Order: sequence, then structure tokens, then C-alpha cells
Amino acid sequence: MTNILVTGGAGYIGSHACKVLRDAGYVPVTYDNLSTGWADAVRFGPFEQGDLTDRARLDEVFRTYRPAAVMHFAALSLVGESMENPGKYWHNNTYGSLCLIEAAVAAGCLDFVFSSTCATYGEHDNVLLDEDCPQHPINAYGASKRAIEDILANFGESHGLNTVIFRYFNVAGADPDGEVGEFHRPETHLIPLMLDAIDGKRPALTVFGTDYDTPDGTCIRDYVHVMDLVDAHVLGLRWLEAGKGSRVFNLGTGHGFSVREVIEKSRAVTNRAVPITEGDRRPGDCTKLVSGSVRAGEDLGWRPHRSTLETMISDAWRWHQTGHYDR
Ligand code: UDP
Repeated sequence: MTNILVTGGAGYIGSHACKVLRDAGYVPVTYDNLSTGWADAVRFGPFEQGDLTDRARLDEVFRTYRPAAVMHFAALSLVGESMENPGKYWHNNTYGSLCLIEAAVAAGCLDFVFSSTCATYGEHDNVLLDEDCPQHPINAYGASKRAIEDILANFGESHGLNTVIFRYFNVAGADPDGEVGEFHRPETHLIPLMLDAIDGKRPALTVFGTDYDTPDGTCIRDYVHVMDLVDAHVLGLRWLEAGKGSRVFNLGTGHGFSVREVIEKSRAVTNRAVPITEGDRRPGDCTKLVSGSVRAGEDLGWRPHRSTLETMISDAWRWHQTGHYDR
């Protein structure tokens, strides 16, 4: 059995990744400090609690499991919070990743899959984003992730580290089997907040900004189903196993939806009214982030077949209605 070290395996995307890794015949070893994750989401392999910045603990875990590769999901990922407290993002995301990368290289574990973000691109007027677009992040979250991409490139040149970097667009939905799903405290993401409002758990969803330069005035995002996203990670792992070397891939569908379009689709899927209020723009939000890349399809054979807005919202809604959500 091949061990894969999964940082952030107790979180939303990491827990779904552990499930598909287990299903693909790997042993996902979760390394997570539980700052935003949940011990009961670690269901598909061993759990080692620890912090990215704790080098001695990392070394011990590498020694114990001798993982063939690292999948590095653990990160803080809230744009708004990153604008209020950038130091927290540089410390946890960038410095923490440096500790992890150094530990991996020291252990001779040279295949590394990294969760980056479309937030590294920043504002590009009405352009669909591909991997060669210049990266000018406008928030500290994106900046902290771009810096990690630079570190990985340097370690590739100097230490032979092979990296697959995935730049995620907006991840949504949940495991259709209902074993794991999205659960953040506090919740800040559009779809789960909207489902809360529909369900009466919050008075209303606040639409952040209605004066953007878009057809209906609200921000546009490219939503990708979490199961499709983690499938890409298994394909990325196989790419590295085949010795194909370092590569960057966008993970988005190429279709953008405004906040108002997501609201309308949620109303249709749940057949319930969505209470909303209109508020100010949220600092750090880009107007439009939509992938214009076909690289993951061409190189990895990735097909995001669950990533319709309807399927993402109905899978999220099903998960939302399980008892898990109220823990
Ligand atoms: N959004 C919103 N109200 C909310 C949360 C999000 O209008 O309560 C908007 C946000 O401004 C952005 C989009 O929904 O345009 C997606 O935001 P989310 O926080 O889900 O993901 P992000 O794009 O920040 O990664």
C-alpha cells in the first residue's frame, strides 16, 4: 500500500481527497492541526495531529509513514480575513508550507501536489484566465499562495522536487454519498450561507456588492464540484508517478456565474425562497474569476462532469440537510 501525506485532510477539500485516494488504492495519512478541520471528517486513513510549522512533528510523521507523495491542502483560505490579518496568512500558509516542503525534501519525498488558487491572478478585465496569465493577487490570501508557488519552483530547480500545482476556482458541493461535506465555522462561503438562509438558520444572505462591472452588478465566479476537484488530484498524482515533471493546472469549468445567478439556481433547486439583503463590496474580492484553460483536460484527461451549478447546489443541499451540519 502506498501512503500519501494529506495535509488538511480534516478539512472540506482534504477530506474528500482522502476518500478518493482510499478508493484509488492509496492510504491517505491526514496531517491537520484541527484549527479549521474536524477530527470526525478523518474517515479514510490514519490521523496525525500537528501543525505545519512544527518541523520536529513533521519529520516524525515522514519517518513513520514514508509517504510516496504529499498533497498539501492545509491552509487558511478566507479572502476577507486575509485582508484583516495578513500576517496570519503569511505565517500559516507561506511559512507553514516552507516548513512542510523542507521536511518533504529532507525525507526524500519529492512528489508534491499543491492547492493554489485563482486568487493568485488578481484582476484581469474580462479575460478568461489561463495558467500563463500574470499573477498579481489583490488580497493577502492570494499573495500568500503565490509565494508558495515560487518556493516550490525554487525547490524544483535546486532539490529535484516535482510539483503539480492546482489553481482552484470556487469549490462547491459535497460527496454525493453524504460521508463528508462542507463544514466551516464560521461559514463565509456563498453557497452554504445561502442554504442557511433558505433553511432559516440565518435571517438572510448578504450580497456583497451590486455595482460591479458585470451584467447584473454582482461578482462572477467559476464553480467546480469538490468531487471533480479531488479527482483531478488523483490524476495529478499519477502524472507525477509517471515522471512527467512539474506542471501548473487551473481547475475550473470555464463557465462563470454571478452571485445573482447562483441565488436564482438555489431557489430553483430547493424550491424555496432565498432571503437576501444587498450590502457593500467585500474588500479583496475580484470582479470576475473564470478559467480559460483546457490544460487539465488535455494533459490529465480531467472531465469535471459533476460541475453543473444544479448538481453542486443539490449535493450541497443534501449534505446541508443531514444532521452532520448541526454538529
Ligand atoms: N458572496 C456574497 N455573500 C456572502 C458570501 C460571498 O455575496 O455572504 C460573494 C462574494 O463576494 C464572491 C462570491 O460570493 O463574489 C463567492 O464568494 P466565496 O466567499 O464563496 O468564495 P471566494 O470567491 O471568496 O473564494
